[in-house]
Order: sequence, then structure tokens, then C-alpha cells
Amino acid sequence: MSSLGEHIDKLVKKKVEDSGSGAGALIAAIRLLNRGIVRWALRVLTKEVEFNGERKPLMEWVLAKYAGESQCPTVAHFVAPFFEMGMKLATAWLHADEEPIKQLLSDPAIRRGIVTTLRGIALFGVTTPQKLPPAPPFFIVWNFTNACNLRCIHCYQNAGKPLPNELTLDEKLRVVKELDEAGVPAIALSGGEPTVHRDFWPVLAR
Ligand code: SF4
Repeated sequence: MSSLGEHIDKLVKKKVEDSGSGAGALIAAIRLLNRGIVRWALRVLTKEVEFNGERKPLMEWVLAKYAGESQCPTVAHFVAPFFEMGMKLATAWLHADEEPIKQLLSDPAIRRGIVTTLRGIALFGVTTPQKLPPAPPFFIVWNFTNACNLRCIHCYQNAGKPLPNELTLDEKLRVVKELDEAGVPAIALSGGEPTVHRDFWPVLAR
């Protein structure tokens, strides 16, 4: 393993020395992603794996491990070192710093968004705009409540008091669970003014 590590270090150094402009590196990265073998690997890496009753694409587990989380399935522990080597190469090639990337990947919504994009690349290659797989929406804006403590004259929501048929806390938590299980990367809570509702914090915590 140490000779492999040394080989990678040498390769990284050479790539840094050889690399020209950032645009050149980006074009090379796009070409690489469009290769059949890379797309096949992405298809394998985005297959779902279950761990502790939670089903997620393997790549999502690997990204979580790369970001510093230790709880992940065995197969992710096996794949992660190769991913880390790849990231080391890629960041050196693109003149990027790994630490901010790891911080970014500590957000599960960002991990899920990346994996959805990788699934799109696996299926369609790199496209402009990027085609995504048949999947749940990337981002959902949820009008969480009609309650609002303001009275803006431009309000199109006619917000003020909660509506009589708003969801109960249990129903809201179920919505979050179902959206999570469906693979939605991000939810924005809107309204009304969601922060004045007593269910805001329990839902946010979930
Ligand atoms: S919902 Fe938004 S726009 Fe409407 S009154 Fe409240 S803060 Fe103003």
C-alpha cells in the first residue's frame, strides 16, 4: 500500500506540474466523466446499499465517510480509500484544496445532490444542462403554514392565521420522512412565516 501511496504522490506532483489552465483541466475532467468505463463505474457506485435500516446510494455513504462520518456499510469502508486517492489526484490536478470540499460534503443535502447529478452522468454522460435520472425533484419549497406575524402589502399568500386544515406535527414529520426516503436532496420551509409555528423546530430537527 505504501508503494501505491508513493506512486499516487508522484502522479499528483506530475499532474500539478503538467496542468495548464483551470479550463483545460475542466475539459479533461468532462472527457474523463464521459468515458464508458467511468459511466459504468458511476452506475455501480450509485446503486443503493442498506445500512442500519437506511437505504442510500453507495456513493452517498462513501461521500459521508470522506467528510468524516464513520457509520457506514462495509462496502463503503472498502471503496472509500480508492475514492480518497481519486480526490487527492483530482484536487491536485484542479489546483483545489480538499478541506473546503470535505466541509461542503458534511451537508447531507449536498451529498445527495451530487449523487443525483452523478446518476445523471452515469445515464446520459455530461450534458448541458445536465440531464438527471427519473428522480424526485432536486429541491422542494414547502408552504409549511399560513401563519405569519407580518402583514406585507405585496403578500400573495394572504398569510396571517394558520389554515384550519394544516398538517399535524406527526403528519409533517411523516412528510419529511417520505421525502427523505424518496431521495429529495433539499427542502425549503416557507409560508407564511414558518419560524413562528411551534412545529418549525421539531421538523427542522428531523
Ligand atoms: S408570508 Fe411573507 S410576504 Fe406574506 S405577510 Fe408573511 S412575510 Fe409578508
